[in-house]
Amino acid sequence: MTVVTYSRNVFLPLSNACRNKCTYCGFRSSEPTLMERREVLSFLEAGRKAGAKEALFTFGERPESNEGVRKKLHEWGYGSMTEYLLDLCRDAIKAGLLPHTNAGALEYDEMKALKEVNASLGLMLESASERLCESGMPHEQSPGKKPDVRLAVIENAGRLEIPFTTGLLIGIGEIPEEMHASIWKLKEINEKYGHIQEVIVQNFKPKVGTPMEGSPEPGQIEMIDAVRAVRAVLPGVHVQVPPNLNPTNWPVFVKEGASDLGGFSQTTHDYINPEAAWPLIDKLKIIAGENGITLRERLPIYPEFIKRGWYGGETGELIEKYANKEGLVNE
Ligand code: SF4
Repeated sequence: MTVVTYSRNVFLPLSNACRNKCTYCGFRSSEPTLMERREVLSFLEAGRKAGAKEALFTFGERPESNEGVRKKLHEWGYGSMTEYLLDLCRDAIKAGLLPHTNAGALEYDEMKALKEVNASLGLMLESASERLCESGMPHEQSPGKKPDVRLAVIENAGRLEIPFTTGLLIGIGEIPEEMHASIWKLKEINEKYGHIQEVIVQNFKPKVGTPMEGSPEPGQIEMIDAVRAVRAVLPGVHVQVPPNLNPTNWPVFVKEGASDLGGFSQTTHDYINPEAAWPLIDKLKIIAGENGITLRERLPIYPEFIKRGWYGGETGELIEKYANKEGLVNE
């Protein structure tokens, strides 16, 4: 029987302000919002009641680069988004949820502070191709998507011993050689620190109203190639394929080496891919059963990192509670 893991989370898109302008993005807004603390608290409470154990905090990169967001943060007594986020992470821990933050490219000191209140951190590499940052390419106006910037963040996570989730975005114009080179870059860093817990293989989905709305989605063959390559180059690192973006064919990728379906929320939407609702866990279990797959819940920190003792700070008590009392350290 093949075992595939997933996490029950609450998805919290704190702000859709972003300093980048990726041409496939349907999330960023030029009139952005910033979630208020009381709104976050109510989502945390609803998520916990529904059985979630992870609070996934995500937002555009450097939202305070937007004047409106910056003003609001100042009104609420915060000098930066990271300061606000630290308080929200503490709220999540109090509510019984383990924070996992994906906040774009952060500085070393910010990551060091966030380590104390997060079970793990994440940042999609997407692609290590410089070519995708050239004129007319999807990352031309996205300084935070420069491969050096992203790889430096992933390296800093290793230096700080932070269990880390990264990933590839497949189908945004990369050629197969660039996709493979991206995986080898991750391997280079992971060999030094051993901190990459999982690599997400995410398929590009065109969004209406974006410059790339007419671009084709990657085919199953490209996705299989990526899953196989991550599996082969990064043995021991979990491979995640999001089931809401692959609702019927996710078991195909499991057969090729994917071992995780990521986190999904039963109380909030996927605001990054609003057209693709998360499947209900019961529905996933039926598909899994038909394909000889057993689904097993996990925490946002993988068991091998718990065993290694790569946790602590303000999350330690909660991680130990879930790991010991609810047996979520099984591999
Ligand atoms: S970094 Fe993320 S939120 Fe910002 S424009 Fe790119 S895809 Fe959108």
